Amino acid sequence: MKPLLIIASLLVLALLPAQETVQPADIVFKNGNVYTATDTSPDAEAIAVKADRIIFVGTNAAAQQYVGANTRVVDLKGKTVLPGFTDSHQHLSGVGFREMTLNLEGTTSLADFLAKVKARVAQAKPGEWVTGRGWIETHWKPPVFPTRWDLDKVAPNNPVILGRADGHGAVANSAALKAAGIDKNTANPFGGEISKDKQTGEPNGMLLDNAQGLVRRHVPPTTPADAERAVVLGVKRNIELGWTQIQDAGGSYADVEIFKKLYAAGTIKLRIYKAVHGPGPSATRLLKEGAIVGAYGNRFTFRTIKVVSDGALGSRGAALLAPYSDAADTSGFLTVKAEDLRPMLQEALRKGIQVETHAIGDLANRFVLDEYEAAFNAVPEGEREVEVPRWRIEHAQIVNPDDIPRFAKLGVIPSMQPSHAIGDLFFAPSRVGINRLAGSYAWASFIKSGIVVPAGSDAPVERGEPMI
Ligand SMILES: [Zn+2]
Repeated sequence: MKPLLIIASLLVLALLPAQETVQPADIVFKNGNVYTATDTSPDAEAIAVKADRIIFVGTNAAAQQYVGANTRVVDLKGKTVLPGFTDSHQHLSGVGFREMTLNLEGTTSLADFLAKVKARVAQAKPGEWVTGRGWIETHWKPPVFPTRWDLDKVAPNNPVILGRADGHGAVANSAALKAAGIDKNTANPFGGEISKDKQTGEPNGMLLDNAQGLVRRHVPPTTPADAERAVVLGVKRNIELGWTQIQDAGGSYADVEIFKKLYAAGTIKLRIYKAVHGPGPSATRLLKEGAIVGAYGNRFTFRTIKVVSDGALGSRGAALLAPYSDAADTSGFLTVKAEDLRPMLQEALRKGIQVETHAIGDLANRFVLDEYEAAFNAVPEGEREVEVPRWRIEHAQIVNPDDIPRFAKLGVIPSMQPSHAIGDLFFAPSRVGINRLAGSYAWASFIKSGIVVPAGSDAPVERGEPMI
């Protein structure tokens, strides 16, 4: 592949007509293979930039009029230029922490998984927690979750908790379960499940969705220095992959403070569009203090609340309208209560705050559409800070076909991840059955219905490559 030159500030790609008095540009790029992403003139050779704006895209000859005495001219020598990529859904510090803790991406079998854990445990101090993430059993033979007993063989003394790649499940060993006081009598928390052995009723180590918190709260907290390092590493990794903006789907005000500090010091330059989790203290504070838009040279915008309404399909936590096709005893579960959501949604409309809600299953998608619609009706346009709120559903993965047109009708954006469709290809047919696939990963149906579908990577749940 030819080297790619990515122009970060490619915000406007309109072809400007030649004007009577043309201002000289700061920089003119010539002799490029410029991909404009516009249907009317898909290709161009040259770009002129003044301050932080592109002021011209077109032919080399027409670009010449922007070259003044002080204009820097860059010869691209035929290299390809693409618009800056925005990842519309990822978790920035998670991307950084993946570099700092045990990275189990690409684990090919249970034996491979256990070998990696064993090597890591060998480096840990006695009793020290070992954490990591990124394993996924889909391609293991057989494709079954690891258990506490598997982990105990390689980690008898250190408490271990290792997140599945999707973040909606984790496996803990016996030492970790013991530290958390989890045994066969421990009840499932709301929105979570302590997976149990079918014969003995003993917890088998798998913790789904909110049940992970029972163990994770015993892991010594990361220090502020760790959190800052994770952001710096996450930004570095994103820039290496070619992203010029990322939308950080969740987190807290602690992240916001770190971003502000790093931007002010000039340590990070990547554009970040930030959300915090809600309902809860961070969302309440955002509603009170209001949005931040275009700070630090148009790099930082913070005006979104992230809600999580169900789990993931792989771990059968996604909330479905009917039971799973491969597990008749469960339909998944919602992870947020309507009564907690409603006042927050209405206040968000009044204050001009965007809401984005994780919804994977068809029940969760319908629930969120219903709640959004009720909020839109309760707070009419005249009472909103931003008339068109551009609220989103993250993932919009398994959607009842009846609900697909509701997105365009309500102006709700389905924010989807191509890499999930690729990863889920192997188990989605068994989880939901062939009939329900009609409204699953329904990119074309959404686009035909008249709504724009932004794409994201969901890193570190997935690798985070823009080319995917
Ligand atoms: Zn996500």
